Amino acid sequence: MARYTGPVCRLCRREKMKLFLKGPKCDSMKCPIERRPYPPGEHGRDRPRESEYQIQLREKQKARRIYGLLEKQFRNLYEEANRQQGITGENLLRMLELRLDNVTYRAGWAASRNQSRQLVRHGHVNVNGKRVTYPSYRIRKGDVVSLRDKSRNLIVIRHNLDTLDQQTPPWLEKGAEGMEVTARDLPLREHIDVPVREQLIVELYSK
Ligand code: SF4
Repeated sequence: MARYTGPVCRLCRREKMKLFLKGPKCDSMKCPIERRPYPPGEHGRDRPRESEYQIQLREKQKARRIYGLLEKQFRNLYEEANRQQGITGENLLRMLELRLDNVTYRAGWAASRNQSRQLVRHGHVNVNGKRVTYPSYRIRKGDVVSLRDKSRNLIVIRHNLDTLDQQTPPWLEKGAEGMEVTARDLPLREHIDVPVREQLIVELYSK
C-alpha cells in the first residue's frame, strides 16, 4: 500500500507545529521544530497568505499527516463520513481513530503511528484472535486487539511498553498486562486529542 516516504519532520515544519511523527525524538531538543519553527524552503520565513482556503487546506493536511494517510484514502474516508448519520467532521475523526494502526499506537506498543503501521504489516497484531495485517482495518465496538504470543517479547515492543507514557483513551480498556486492548466503546470527540479543527476540513471538501 502506498505511503509517504519522504522526510517526516518537514511535514511538522510545514504545519508549524509538532505532529509527533517520530516517537522519542519528538520530545527531545533534536526536534527541528525547536530550532526552526517555520515552514521549510526558501520562502518558509515569509509572511504567509492566510486566505480562508489556505486555513482549511492546512487543517486537512495536518489531520492527514497525523494519521499518515495519502490524499485519496483521506478523501474516501471523508466521503464515507459524509454518508453516515451525525456530524461529518466527528465521524471522520472517529473513523481515523478506529484504524488498527492508531489503536496499536494508542495501546502504547509503538512510539509513533508509523512504527505502529509496521507492527501491523509485519503480522504482530491479532484482532479477536486472528492475525490482521491491514493498518487501515477498522476496529468495531467490542473488538479485542492483542499482540501475538511470539511478538510479546520483541525488544522494540518491550522497550515501548517500559518507556512510553502513553495514556490509554477511555474508550479502550487494557488487559493481559498491557498486551491486549478492548474497544469498550466508540471514541467521542472529547476523547480524540488531535489538534485538528475538523469543521474546517468539512468546509474545504464541501466546496
Ligand atoms: Fe515532528 Fe517529531 Fe520531527 Fe519534531 S521530531 S518535527 S515533532 S516528527
